Amino acid sequence: MSRLEIHQIPVLSDNYVYLAHCPATGDTAVIDPAVTGPVMDAAKAKGWTITHILNTHHHGDHTGGNLEIKAATGCTIVGPKADRARIPGIDVEVDDGDSYRLGEADSKVFFVPGHTRGHIAYWFGDSDALFCGDTMFAMGCGRLFEGTPAQMWHSLSKLKDLPGETRIFCAHEYTQANGRFALSVEPDNTDLVARMAEVDAKRARDEPTVPSTLAEERATNPFLRPDSPLLQKTVGMVGADPVDVFAETRARKDNF
Ligand code: ZN
Ligand code: FE
Repeated sequence: MSRLEIHQIPVLSDNYVYLAHCPATGDTAVIDPAVTGPVMDAAKAKGWTITHILNTHHHGDHTGGNLEIKAATGCTIVGPKADRARIPGIDVEVDDGDSYRLGEADSKVFFVPGHTRGHIAYWFGDSDALFCGDTMFAMGCGRLFEGTPAQMWHSLSKLKDLPGETRIFCAHEYTQANGRFALSVEPDNTDLVARMAEVDAKRARDEPTVPSTLAEERATNPFLRPDSPLLQKTVGMVGADPVDVFAETRARKDNF
């Protein structure tokens, strides 16, 4: 087992691409390469050679660099089996419950449909790292382009009970806008109020708010909290089924 070194690359308007490097073997994965140039430059600056691409889902801002990076490096592209037809250059198909090994670091794959019908997440437990693409965001979750609220809630439920120290390497800097919505449904959540003050300060300094930890998300992310009495009260659904509260919360965010 090996603890990955993780390097965050901000690209486009609000995407994060990650390099994950196994120090024991030198294997280096790009997670969701939206673009090519900045990713290649970042790897070069670190002195790392890209050996893998790990895709969470097919959207262009997650796979846009696949073919060029593969052509330049000969890397292996890993992606969701359920969405193989939409992942450019895919070599290895993985599915729920699979293990995928990068160098000496093991990951567990979770099938997490909702944002898209084929979305997966990679959990490197020994590195306290979850690469969850557009499924979970800091204080938010992905839009339901191809899935139902019930599917997305089931997907988030697979992730939400991982260890609290797990770092959430999501694919977008949406935190501040997500937090404003979160405050609208849980205005009296003191953890949320405190977190939002930190987030505002970081953004004022133009610093990333990602990664957060799963413990922080459980305390403040409304999409992990359909059982919160505060949230249930705001949306007028005290005691309702978590799926229904989640669905209502997601619908309100879409119109926020
Ligand atoms: Zn997406
Ligand atoms: Fe995205």
